[in-house]
Amino acid sequence: MNARDTRGIGMTSARTRDRLLASLREAGIENESVLERIRDVPRHLFVDEALASRAYENTVLPIGHGQTISQPYIVARMTEALIEGRELPIPKVLEIGTGCGYQTAVLASFARHVYGVERINALLKFSRQRLRELRISNVSLRHADGFEGWASQAPFQGILVAAAPADVPEALLQQLDDGGRLLIPVGSSGRQSLLRITRRGDEFERETLGAVSFVPLVPGQTQ
Ligand code: SAH
Repeated sequence: MNARDTRGIGMTSARTRDRLLASLREAGIENESVLERIRDVPRHLFVDEALASRAYENTVLPIGHGQTISQPYIVARMTEALIEGRELPIPKVLEIGTGCGYQTAVLASFARHVYGVERINALLKFSRQRLRELRISNVSLRHADGFEGWASQAPFQGILVAAAPADVPEALLQQLDDGGRLLIPVGSSGRQSLLRITRRGDEFERETLGAVSFVPLVPGQTQ
């Protein structure tokens, strides 16, 4: 049996995953369905085989192309903040910065459909394959520049951005449904504020959820 087994046994034992859950709880994650989902998604399948033994540490890991898989705490925190107090599943969720597809896999159980946008085509192909292997089918992925959102599928009841722009892109605000929520890190390289923006008609209510560190949201797209 090898480490890429989708059933997630061996080095990805229940004990290792329980330790991750304990550290997320300690860090303040309370939503039990989010914790359960983090336990169930095989994160080791989204990283290089050489790093599989570290996949259940609460840490970022390289995924190639100068990018990283998000820290489980951040995925849990953003997902929790997105779904808090809302009826599930959320109909349409837009995810900007799909990367290896890990966060997409977590989100997919809380949305009727997830629309993922990624600017690096190689990562997009990788994530498409992983999600297919896991039989997660309520996801559509697109190779494009996330600054533009995904206009033809708008409006979205949730938008989650996994890379940081200096300011909130206007297109994402426009594509948010009334009552919808946008989770986005905003600020300069290395240190940003995680914002939760809720649309109320033409008003956008902003909450600051704390300091975070994301890779930058880079305009354009590449192979
Ligand atoms: N969500 C991923 C984390 C990806 S890291 C996970 O679960 O692990 C952030 C990702 O955002 C990178 O893959 C990067 O290529 C992508 N990105 C950066 N700028 C972007 C843009 N303008 N449009 C779409 N994706 C972008």
